[in-house]
Amino acid sequence: MTRPRFNRILLKLSGEALMGSGPFGIDPDAAAGLASEVAAAKAQGHELCLVVGGGNIFRGMAAAAKGFDRATADYMGMLATVMNALALQNALEKQGIDTRVQSAIPMSSVCEPYIRRRALRHMEKGRIVLFAAGTGNPYFTTDTAAALRAAEMGCHALFKGTSVDGIYTADPKKDVAANRYETVSFDRVLRDNLKVMDAAAVALCRDNNIPIVVFNVRQPGNLAQVLAGHGTATTVQSEE
Ligand code: UDP
Repeated sequence: MTRPRFNRILLKLSGEALMGSGPFGIDPDAAAGLASEVAAAKAQGHELCLVVGGGNIFRGMAAAAKGFDRATADYMGMLATVMNALALQNALEKQGIDTRVQSAIPMSSVCEPYIRRRALRHMEKGRIVLFAAGTGNPYFTTDTAAALRAAEMGCHALFKGTSVDGIYTADPKKDVAANRYETVSFDRVLRDNLKVMDAAAVALCRDNNIPIVVFNVRQPGNLAQVLAGHGTATTVQSEE
């Protein structure tokens, strides 16, 4: 089974991908490993842009549960994603890859503000654009930001890097009979509440016909492999 070639992709990385084996924060080796994955994909001729989460540093919902005002906590979460984007930018530039960070919350002495047409121009010039600060709005997630930016940047697919190799019928860690879907429809993901991305992000991808490819980003070389149509992954698309 081969996947179609997606030339331009948006790669969504959760903040946890940057933690390495630590309990929180940013591990430089994990950042370097992710940068190598991106470099290998770029070397294959793909155009990439990235959205990175912030869960390794701060999660708005968890903080709200402890008594923080939700909107304030969410803004703190968005700031965490900027730190992660800078860490990834640093790791990518160490590998000689030209990058730009654009933040949905303007902070002009740190990075560029998000300007869609400028981001498109960066991509045309071969730069990797890292979108930080999510959507810039509380009550959203970086998954929704990924779907939004993927649509805005005309991406052919949204690649969601996780620690499992796709979407299963049940939790494979709890149920030995769980099977991995090769492809699954947006509607089934929403109906069966399959844990892929939040419902707003899935619906946005469905409405804009952007397939979501769920793959294991912790396995070295896997992003380039999956992009080349090999390896294991699950594609969420319009038809089953
Ligand atoms: N966040 C937000 N609006 C956005 C994106 C993110 O308020 O558009 C906040 C929210 O509090 C979230 C935190 O930023 O918990 C970190 O993002 P997320 O949890 O999506 O990161 P991930 O789980 O991918 O590491």
